[in-house]
Amino acid sequence: MSNFADMEKRISEILAKHQLRKTTARMQVLECFLHSDSAISHSRLEKKLADTDRITLYRTLKTFEETGIIHKAMDGTGIARYALCAGSCQHHHHEDNHAHFHCGECGNTVCLDEVVVPAIQLPTGFQQDSSHLIIKGTCEKCK
Ligand SMILES: [Zn+2]
Ligand SMILES: [Zn+2]
Ligand SMILES: [Zn+2]
Repeated sequence: MSNFADMEKRISEILAKHQLRKTTARMQVLECFLHSDSAISHSRLEKKLADTDRITLYRTLKTFEETGIIHKAMDGTGIARYALCAGSCQHHHHEDNHAHFHCGECGNTVCLDEVVVPAIQLPTGFQQDSSHLIIKGTCEKCK
């Protein structure tokens, strides 16, 4: 099987698993994520998919985030980046309980899937919705 057919099969499987119709925009956006080994910002996607209209791109990212295909990769820079979920995320329920690493050299943000965010003991009366562990430094490629 060629790489292209392989990629198309993976894309179809992910969309089917999350009960999403195959559209050109969805397939193109997913392909970007599958090809990238770091989290992708909205503006980088806009540049990569210059033919896709901005609202469609915005909606596609929103749908992917809601259905559990991608999650926001917080890196403390104020730029919203997204990364593919590991596979256990479901509609409106993410389980991406891992740290994100932001490299000051190349500016990439990556998921550290094996680094689990520790449970935090909050003061009485506080309720946690989410927490993010951001680690900054130099990645293995830039070291
Ligand atoms: Zn997720
Ligand atoms: Zn780096
Ligand atoms: Zn992540």
